[in-house]
Amino acid sequence: MSVIIFADQSEGHIKKAALEALSYGAALARSLQTTATAVVLGPISNDVAAGLGKFGVSKVLLASSDAFTHLDGQVFAEAIAQAATAENAQVVVFPHNPDGKSVAPRVAVRLKAGLVTGAIDLPDLSGGGFVVRKNVFSGKAFAYVTIKSPIKVISLNPNSFHVQEGDGKAEVVAFQPTVAAPRVKVTAVNKVSGEVPLSEAEIVVSGGRGLKGPENWGLVEDLAKVLGAATACSRPVADAHWRPHHEHVGQTGLTIRPNLYIAIGISGAIQHLAGVNGSKVIVVINKDPEAPFFKAADYGIVGDAFEVVPKFTEAVKKLKG
Ligand code: FAD
Repeated sequence: MSVIIFADQSEGHIKKAALEALSYGAALARSLQTTATAVVLGPISNDVAAGLGKFGVSKVLLASSDAFTHLDGQVFAEAIAQAATAENAQVVVFPHNPDGKSVAPRVAVRLKAGLVTGAIDLPDLSGGGFVVRKNVFSGKAFAYVTIKSPIKVISLNPNSFHVQEGDGKAEVVAFQPTVAAPRVKVTAVNKVSGEVPLSEAEIVVSGGRGLKGPENWGLVEDLAKVLGAATACSRPVADAHWRPHHEHVGQTGLTIRPNLYIAIGISGAIQHLAGVNGSKVIVVINKDPEAPFFKAADYGIVGDAFEVVPKFTEAVKKLKG
C-alpha cells in the first residue's frame, strides 16, 4: 500500500501546485501509516528529483523519456496508472491544475477508482471512512464526498494546502512505463508574460472596467510589481482586448485561490466572484460604496482608483524599504 503523487514539472522545475500536492500526499500517507512516492514525467535532474524528499516523499519514480516532454493526457495517464499499480497505490494525488485536471480522471478510469476533483483539505478518515471536502456551486457550498472504491484518486485545489518543507532526501528510481507514442503534437508554446504565473500566484492584483482603458494598466502592473504579484482582470476587460484572455478570472475564466486578491475597479458580479472567492484575503478598491464586491471583501477602500492605487504602491515601496 502507498500514496503516490503526480509531481508535474515545467522546464525541469516542479510546479508550486505539485509541491502542495506532494506535501498533502505525504501528510495523507502518514495518516494511513504508509509511504508516499512521487511520480515525475519528463526531463528533470536527479538532484531536483531527490530533493522532493524535502516535501515528505521517500521515493521518486522518474520517467524522463521524450514521450513526456509535452503533456499528452492519454500517455501521462497510462504511465501514472502503471506507477500506481507497481506501487500498489491506495491513493493517487494530483494537483488540480491544467495538467492534473487533464490526467486525474483518465487515471481514475484506468484504475477503476473513485475520484474527487478540487479537494480542499485532507480526507476525514474517522470510522474507517474516506470523506473528501471540496467546493461546489462556485465556492458557495461544500460537498463532502465519500470514496468507497479500494483505490482513490484526488486532485488538490491549488493554494488549499501549505507546502511543508523538511530536510529529507528521496530515493530516485528510474521508471520506464510502456506507453503509446504521444498523439498530441506541440507546434508552438506561448509563454505567459509576467514574472508570476497567475494560477500559482500567492498575491494577485486585478483590474476591471473601472480602469477605463488599457492605457491605465500601469497602475495595476506597478502595484503588482512591488508586491511580487501576478496580474488578472475581469471578463469585459479581456473581451475588450485591454488584457489577454489568459488573465481573465471568474466563472468562465480561471479559478484562483491566492492568499491575497486585490480588486481594482471591479464591481464584484457573481460570475467574477466565482473565480476568486476562495482567496484567503480580498481587498476591494472601488469608488462606489454600494459595489457588491464590498460584501465579499475583507478590506475595502472606497475611492477613485486613480488616486488610491498610486498611493498604495508608494506605501508598499516604503514598507519594503
Ligand atoms: P463593471 O461591472 O462595469 O464594473 C466596474 C466597476 O468599477 C464599478 O463597480 C465602478 O463603481 C468601478 N469604478 C469605476 N470607475 C472607478 C474608479 N475611477 N475607481 C474605482 N472604481 C471605479 N465576469 C468576470 O469577471 N469573469 C467571468 O468569468 C465572467 N463570466 C460570465 C459568464 C456569464 C454567463 C455572464 C452572463 C457574465 C459573466 N461575467 C464574467 C460578466 C459579469 O457579469 C460582469 O459583467 C463583469 O464581471 C463586470 O466586470 P467589471 O466589474 O470589470 O465591470
